[in-house]
Amino acid sequence: MATITGAKVIITSPGRNFVTLKITTSDGVTGLGDATLNGRELAVAAYLRDHLVPLLIGRDPDRIEDMWQYLYKGAYWRRGPVTMTAIAAVDTALWDIKGKVAGMPVYDLLGGRARDGAMVYGHASGGSVAELLDDVARFRDLGYRAIRAQAAVPGSPGSYGVRHGAIYEPAATALPEEQLWSTEDYLDFAPSCLGQVREKFGFDFHLLHDVHHRLTPTEAGRLGRAFEELRLFWMEDPTPAELQESFRQIRRATTTPIAVGEVFNSIWDCQQLITERLIDYIRASVVHAGGITHLRRIFHLAELYQVRTGSHGATDLSPVSLSAAVHLDVTVPNFGVQEYMAHSPLTHEVFRTGYELRDGALYPSSAPGLGVELDEEAAARFPYEPKYLPVGRRTDGSVHDW
Ligand SMILES: [Mg+2]
Repeated sequence: MATITGAKVIITSPGRNFVTLKITTSDGVTGLGDATLNGRELAVAAYLRDHLVPLLIGRDPDRIEDMWQYLYKGAYWRRGPVTMTAIAAVDTALWDIKGKVAGMPVYDLLGGRARDGAMVYGHASGGSVAELLDDVARFRDLGYRAIRAQAAVPGSPGSYGVRHGAIYEPAATALPEEQLWSTEDYLDFAPSCLGQVREKFGFDFHLLHDVHHRLTPTEAGRLGRAFEELRLFWMEDPTPAELQESFRQIRRATTTPIAVGEVFNSIWDCQQLITERLIDYIRASVVHAGGITHLRRIFHLAELYQVRTGSHGATDLSPVSLSAAVHLDVTVPNFGVQEYMAHSPLTHEVFRTGYELRDGALYPSSAPGLGVELDEEAAARFPYEPKYLPVGRRTDGSVHDW
């Protein structure tokens, strides 16, 4: 029996911060797991280094489900983003190792492909509607079949999802930037903004929009109704989801499809949303929802209720996560779409990936395991830099959901 002989936490900042766990076995096989929690990276690194790594040494890398149960139930303190991201890193690295030992890509370990590639959506944005329309045109020219559209709300400098420069990176400052937000201005602006996208480009592509948890259920219901004639693929994160039953009110108000889940950590965060069919798409990710093992469980529950998948895939998760997501995406019957923001060239100096973007879809590498390599010498050239996500404030100065 092979055993785990080493587990190393690698922190690197090639353009943005990533935490990666590298597990080594007595047979010399290595596996990678993403442990990046944007803006709170070092908490997960410490959880891994101080508390999980000592538990891994000498254990059997083959027993992935048992390891998951051991780390989840064994902690006594369950769930939460730090714990679940750390467990995800171990879980993902063990799937990578199992694939390499078996000589199979992870998608074959998961039952084989149900589709060759995973349709992705790209992020079009603009400081004005005119700029957004140009950016939508650019994504259409690149072959994207699904496009998220966001534009700056006039007079609202805290508009979500608008790119400044070549790469959108909200966690850009050493201390949190505070951004002003007006819900009233946004609600007046968003339907006409997206309406102009449909007017110019028609309906032959999927149009998505992210509300970023900023509305009440009443406001979200009203916005969803205004979006109905635009036939959105989804309206994302209409309201914070701690109160799962609040989605029932949005559901009653509108037929616009609803997606949520990028901040979810476990199946318990979405159990009611799924089993009562209060959402159409579950957006939990490999890295923040307990790894391939647990996310697959969430996706299977969702399948029973005709809820489809739409995993979070911003650059706040590493190429290891994205690769794991694509391996899972191509296997599940209820796949919907995969979010995709290309990582920067700097990031790819550290992470060598095998997945490929073609015709608006990501195709997983057929190499054994996840098909990602981390260049540790390159990683060492990019030391950690403290960065925070912004904080939102209403126009009266009080804190709002960012
Ligand atoms: Mg989002």
